[in-house]
Amino acid sequence: MAYDFDLFVIGAGSGGVRAARFAAGFGAKVAVAESRYLGGTCVNVGCVPKKLLVYGAHFADDFEQASGFGWSLEDAQFDWGQLIANKNREIERLNGIYRNLLLNSGVTLLEGHARLTGAHEVEVDGQRYSAEHILIATGGWPQIPDIPGKELAISSNEAFYLKDLPKRVLVVGGGYIAVEFAGIFQGLGAKTSLLYRGDLFLRGFDGAVREHLKDELEKRGMDLQFNTEIRSIEKQADGSLKATLNDGRELIADCVFYATGRRPMLDNLGLENTGVELDSRGFIRVDELFQTTDPWILAIGDVIGRVQLTPVALAEGMAVVRRLFKPEQYRKVDYQNIPTAVFSQPPIGTVGLSEEQAREQGYEVSIFESRFRPMKLTLTECQERTLMKLVVDAKTDRVLGCHMVGPEAGEIIQGLGIALKAGATKQQFDETIGVHPTAAEEFVTMRTSVR
Ligand SMILES: Cc1cc2nc3c(=O)[nH]c(=O)nc-3n(C[C@H](O)[C@H](O)[C@H](O)COP(=O)(O)OP(=O)(O)OC[C@H]3O[C@@H](n4cnc5c(N)ncnc54)[C@H](O)[C@@H]3O)c2cc1C
Repeated sequence: MAYDFDLFVIGAGSGGVRAARFAAGFGAKVAVAESRYLGGTCVNVGCVPKKLLVYGAHFADDFEQASGFGWSLEDAQFDWGQLIANKNREIERLNGIYRNLLLNSGVTLLEGHARLTGAHEVEVDGQRYSAEHILIATGGWPQIPDIPGKELAISSNEAFYLKDLPKRVLVVGGGYIAVEFAGIFQGLGAKTSLLYRGDLFLRGFDGAVREHLKDELEKRGMDLQFNTEIRSIEKQADGSLKATLNDGRELIADCVFYATGRRPMLDNLGLENTGVELDSRGFIRVDELFQTTDPWILAIGDVIGRVQLTPVALAEGMAVVRRLFKPEQYRKVDYQNIPTAVFSQPPIGTVGLSEEQAREQGYEVSIFESRFRPMKLTLTECQERTLMKLVVDAKTDRVLGCHMVGPEAGEIIQGLGIALKAGATKQQFDETIGVHPTAAEEFVTMRTSVR
């Protein structure tokens, strides 16, 4: 049977754009449908605008520390409206780049909501298209728990477009998005509380990293409240918000920001017209080859709920289109040793196993740790400390995990990700000559195991 397209991609986000462009480059006839914004979450309401706001928030530290280096900056002013307008301009530029990338690679771009009407059929704005393969790359959407007054709260989607910087913010959540936004609000001058229902934020990260970041955020005056949940939110006569907590306490704020997880975006997708099934968490169930339970329909990225990061969605998109259209270049996605960063202040960089995970997996581990005051701060009043940690397999000497909390942690950990992928041993770390004077050299000079 002749189809309109070889591949129909639903969603022009990180994974969808990558898959569509490369499939077209491999000679396939490709369409992509996008209902909201080109580039998806990452470009519009995720990684990119977030990092721009993190840069913005950092200037507070830089200005404060500048005097130690002889600079005097009088009366520095911050204009939230200016930052948001400049950020929006940059996002629009990126939207244009994504459009050109798709069009220049010969992809048919359909700007509208796509709905599956069968295993080989998609409808966009009343027009039906057939395709041999359909790839669902519709991403995720923030979730706010169902509490009285939830409509008064915002998610990351709205935070990027707030008209004014709130004076008092309650950030709810214990994941990286909550921690990052708390840092943004705090850095830009808002009185910020971070509320999390568990004992300590960033579950899954190394214990030392979580504790270290907690101490550093507290040093900065952030109000951290663990084992705390909001029961209800009410608007007060003066326009402020009153959050009543599970223990009966009341907190007053101008903004309540929830980052309590993301659900797969399946709204009006028409899955009921297909054989696509969901897993126990509600994400699209796929096998090793990203095939859904409907053999001609594939899914990648946040909508399958594996590792919700842009580079992972890109890798999954590449794996799918290589397998379909360039099988000689096919490589499985390797979910081991994915380096990640949390752009908190100070940031976290991590790759490989945490000490807890390594022990759970039965490794006998040697732990190397270093804590120090970064050189840049020695002329300043700032008492921030950096943490670096290596988790090593005591039997084979292989480095299982590298963890850092400190300036440029994300930049540093990317390189170490390559070392871990290559299976580097602690001895090879030790034999690597450091770059002096840097913080990163500490990773190759930790000689004595602390545990
Ligand atoms: C605040 C925040 C910060 C983040 N920071 C980072 C970070 O620093 N690093 C990192 O790696 N990751 C980060 N992420 C995660 C990253 O953004 C996602 O993992 C990534 O965007 C997933 O890509 P995707 O292709 O699966 O989906 P998306 O990028 O979400 O794209 C899905 C697209 O599909 C479209 N769509 C949905 N339904 C339909 C339909 N029926 N028809 C047509 N189009 C449809 C949507 O409009 C969207 O454009 C962040 C996320 C958030 C929310």
